[in-house]
Amino acid sequence: MNKEFDINFAREKDLNDPISKFRNEFNIPRFKDQEAVYFTGNSLGLQPKNYNQYLEQELLDWKSMAVEGHFHAKTPWFDYHKTLTKDVAYIVGAKEKEVVTMNALSVNLHLLLTSFYQPTHKKYKILCEPNLFPSDLYILHSQIELRGFDIKDSIVFAPIDSNGIVNEEALLDTIKANQEELAMIFIGGVNYYTGQVFDMEKITKMGHLYNIIVGFDLAHAVGNINLKLHDWGVDFAAWCSYKYLNSGPGNVSSIFIHENQIKKKPFRLSGWWGHQSDNRFALQKEHKPIHTAEGWQLSNAPIFGMSIYRVSLQFFTQIGFEKLIVKRIQLSRYLESAIHLFNSESNHIKLNIITPGTADKRGAQLSVHISDSGKEIYNSLKKSGVYVDWRDPNVMRISPVPLYNSFEDVAKFYHILHAFNK
Ligand SMILES: *Cc1c(COP(=O)(O)O)cnc(C)c1O
Repeated sequence: MNKEFDINFAREKDLNDPISKFRNEFNIPRFKDQEAVYFTGNSLGLQPKNYNQYLEQELLDWKSMAVEGHFHAKTPWFDYHKTLTKDVAYIVGAKEKEVVTMNALSVNLHLLLTSFYQPTHKKYKILCEPNLFPSDLYILHSQIELRGFDIKDSIVFAPIDSNGIVNEEALLDTIKANQEELAMIFIGGVNYYTGQVFDMEKITKMGHLYNIIVGFDLAHAVGNINLKLHDWGVDFAAWCSYKYLNSGPGNVSSIFIHENQIKKKPFRLSGWWGHQSDNRFALQKEHKPIHTAEGWQLSNAPIFGMSIYRVSLQFFTQIGFEKLIVKRIQLSRYLESAIHLFNSESNHIKLNIITPGTADKRGAQLSVHISDSGKEIYNSLKKSGVYVDWRDPNVMRISPVPLYNSFEDVAKFYHILHAFNK
């Protein structure tokens, strides 16, 4: 037996990990009489044990004061979204006026594209990666049709290799080659399928060189990699809060709009919550928007969901990205060695990692192609208390999350896989 994946050796690594205690802050799903190996935090983050820290109060305030809660709740609901702003700005590297929390992700992407996709007859195309998230492609298609353009002629795909990885030099060349026609670049900052991390700063600079708006879907990036959206000059971005941010299923999304774009006062779809707050309830005839990202709000805030997002964001400000990233790199390397060892011992099953190998090109997720009977492996893992996820035709996504996964989780994963060889 290889010592590196001995359970006691892994536990020793956990003891030396300065943030290992945060695992105790989360409810880990159970399998038989043990904790399951949960490697799907990229899809749905775990529940913080203190999810109730604010929720209970909001329910009590609703119970005892009902409508008065808008102004007199312990945290008045009228401006509840503001309780999130500072932490949200921190996790994406934004100024506070550049972010707001509202709606769900796909809805927000439509709102942002309504403002920032402004095609002309000459400049109307959108560049994206060919394996972008299905919802994102539907969003792009419907926005293109809404503006009266033809989807067949309006999307430029970045070139990918046979594993679905985008060569970034080729991506930049594609921008250059299509500069006259591109109105927008829209990419998942971390690709949901391959786990590839894009150089958002470089892409943004290149886009701006040719007067192209640059936006990112950060669903798989936020809480996973260190983002500096303001400094990078990104025009807009949006993300959900229930993947690496652990706020609960279907919970609210946040958006980023660079202050340079806010200043230009682009067209936006308007609702009462984006109206200047001092006379928001006066119900005037003319919409006077707040001159920050808050001006993009439409509806009053979903308080209960937001109250959990408040809790889950605290971990990131408490720990800080530097520590999370150190652990993320160690944990994914450990998983990578486990997979390599498994492959070297296995005669028939091979897990071929497609996610790029360098730490700046990947986050917590490793995607693997499985050469042979992959779906069976996935099903067997599931039956053994391992949560990973399967994407047809042959990709398994495995995401050890630094906030709550342990080195022991990875060692257990190795032993369960190893047993399939017998
Ligand atoms: C998870 C995810 C979504 C989900 O969108 P919802 O509107 O929250 O359902 C969209 N885009 C990407 C890239 C995602 O990873």
